[in-house]
Amino acid sequence: MSALAAKAPGTPLRRDQAEIAQVLDLRARRALEHFARLAQDGPVLSCPICGYRGRFSPVRHKPSVWCPSCDSRPRHRLMRLWLETDPPQARGRVLHFAAEPCLAPTLRARAARYAQADINGLYELTLDIEAIDQPDQSWDLVIANHVLEHVDDRKAMAELFRILAPGGIAALTVPLVAGWERTLELPPDASADERALRAGDPTHLRLYGRDFAARLRAAGFEVSTFTATEPAVGDHALHRGESVFLARRPGPDDVSPGQAPDPKGAKHG
Ligand SMILES: [Zn+2]
Repeated sequence: MSALAAKAPGTPLRRDQAEIAQVLDLRARRALEHFARLAQDGPVLSCPICGYRGRFSPVRHKPSVWCPSCDSRPRHRLMRLWLETDPPQARGRVLHFAAEPCLAPTLRARAARYAQADINGLYELTLDIEAIDQPDQSWDLVIANHVLEHVDDRKAMAELFRILAPGGIAALTVPLVAGWERTLELPPDASADERALRAGDPTHLRLYGRDFAARLRAAGFEVSTFTATEPAVGDHALHRGESVFLARRPGPDDVSPGQAPDPKGAKHG
């Protein structure tokens, strides 16, 4: 370790090339040891979707992300916890974009009508979220996990608003940096490498900041969030602080605070 001998106090640290090579090598070996542990180890966790208990799989550098039984990721388990609050919209007409198989049974079991959609013709409905070929006010709940960062979100939000019935909800998750006031919008000609570097994925058009809710409000929605806390975060390997954004189309079904909903007034099915 002589090459990494301490500098004199007060001297800014600036290593020479030999020291830098040694540091890179040492840290690479530590990273490999870390990855080996990630692949083989981990706490006992539980999946609120499929009931599995045991180790979860790592995804890339992140430990304990993926349920090995139902393939759920944290955002799906978070969505499941929100659905367990029994939102009435989930008992109505439910449209699931880019439908994840792990969430489908949960949604189908509750919904009066349940349909899966994506743009690639993989599901019952082939729909472009920027121009949704569905009638106005025809759905009560739309689920779209990690979709809006891939599309023109202003068009998509306007379309989601249009197809939701009054009182209907779009339940949305997106990659979001809570420390950023504003969304990072990448230039249209950004390369895939640039997108991966700046926004975490070669197909992301942007990485949201705290203004995501304001974007939804600008489309006419009332916005609330569902955010898990302990012990659910630890038990189910959720991302600390991640939220489901609940974008609600205001309308005559509004329930005033403290006033019980009128079951006969509910519009579902
Ligand atoms: Zn599971």
